[in-house]
Amino acid sequence: MNRSLQGLTYFVRTFGCQMNSHDSERVVGMLENLGMIMGDQETADIVVFMTCAVREAADTRLFGQVASMKNLPAPMGGKRIIALGGCIGQRDGDYLFDKLDNLNVVFGTHTIEDLPSLIEEAYETDKKVSSLADRAATPSTDLPIKRENNFHAWVPITMGCDNYCTYCIVPYVRGHEYSREFNQVVAEVELLASQGVKEVTLLGQNVNSYGRDLYGKPKFAELLRAMDDTGIKRVRFTSSHPKDLSDETIKAFAESKTVMPHLHLAVQSGSDRILKAMNRKYSAAHYLERIGKVRELVPQVALSTDIIVGFPGETEEDFQQTLDLAKKANFAQAFTFIYSKRAGTPAAKMIDDTPREVIQERFDGLVELIQTSAYANNKIEEGKTLDVLIEGSSKRDDTILTGRSPRNSTVHIKLAEGRSVEDYIGKIVQVKIELAKTWYLKGNLV
Ligand code: SF4
Repeated sequence: MNRSLQGLTYFVRTFGCQMNSHDSERVVGMLENLGMIMGDQETADIVVFMTCAVREAADTRLFGQVASMKNLPAPMGGKRIIALGGCIGQRDGDYLFDKLDNLNVVFGTHTIEDLPSLIEEAYETDKKVSSLADRAATPSTDLPIKRENNFHAWVPITMGCDNYCTYCIVPYVRGHEYSREFNQVVAEVELLASQGVKEVTLLGQNVNSYGRDLYGKPKFAELLRAMDDTGIKRVRFTSSHPKDLSDETIKAFAESKTVMPHLHLAVQSGSDRILKAMNRKYSAAHYLERIGKVRELVPQVALSTDIIVGFPGETEEDFQQTLDLAKKANFAQAFTFIYSKRAGTPAAKMIDDTPREVIQERFDGLVELIQTSAYANNKIEEGKTLDVLIEGSSKRDDTILTGRSPRNSTVHIKLAEGRSVEDYIGKIVQVKIELAKTWYLKGNLV
């Protein structure tokens, strides 16, 4: 262990998706392995930004945050090291040193393991250092890790993506799609279960295509089935791609004892013309056929999705098709976005002349529809007793426990007199649902 970094404080700021959250857990694991202690962004000796490149606005906000750190007093250790990783690190590389003159370290999505030595070098030499491997490199998976909590764990099963949706930057910054070894994933989940973790989320840009690049091509369906013998209580997975959601996967999803009845299946649009322009490789009819199949085998499933409004060239008719699909799909939840041009993607070159106010009006209409189906999905839970994994307390009221139901609904539970939140965190408890709200359920401990 390098004595010069021991006892220094660090702070990790994470933007973006679950994959970044998982990468940040590994960054924290490595920094604590160097003897560092968690501090806060204003006073820490080492500050690491794990960045997201999905939206243009994110860049501007990030650059502002890094630049503003110049105005902060020097930390206890006498000098501050600022490191930038994640998708913007991978995309812009050394160019970032010209843009941000107080930046010391840049690393990419495939070189997280180099961060400790980069920080040591920057700290001892005042040099600006970077490590950026190209798309083909395979990032290491067995790094020290400090998870956000001890009851849920992100378990990446695939990294990267080869789908090249025309609006998406991910394939350019996260690299080729590759799958982790089957036994390695199963062993990790077994270990987590033996350490008391209750729930894992199998993670990937497109988990349904798991195993295509592995010897013997184990299918995602086999991995889901293997989860039942690991000792883990609850399994979730994200993200699924409609073009790769096979009958075997749906059957395994239905027959598994540990996989929760919640499926996140991004649709993005209900218009075949727009789906083609997005290079999504499926039609609205195919999407509805797949979710019909899922509902046939898993009638209690809660479906969530992603929808983009205002993709270049979207007409009123295209948007009506998106509304029609959303009505038929009866989503329990939808992450709705207004299209954001991303430099370097094919869609960024497409003609985008729909007035902003028209797009905003469409967006508001879609959100209203989703609120109706979200409430209807929660309403069917009223009167039932559900197994809820307690995750913490409500941000607004620390006498209210919050947890997650099998169908991925947030559940609020009044804390009993004389009990503390700590008594319940990480436990799966039985909750009688008294009231449904649009975005959460209210209930009492049984
Ligand atoms: S499937 Fe499409 S949207 Fe998802 S990460 Fe891959 S390219 Fe991006």
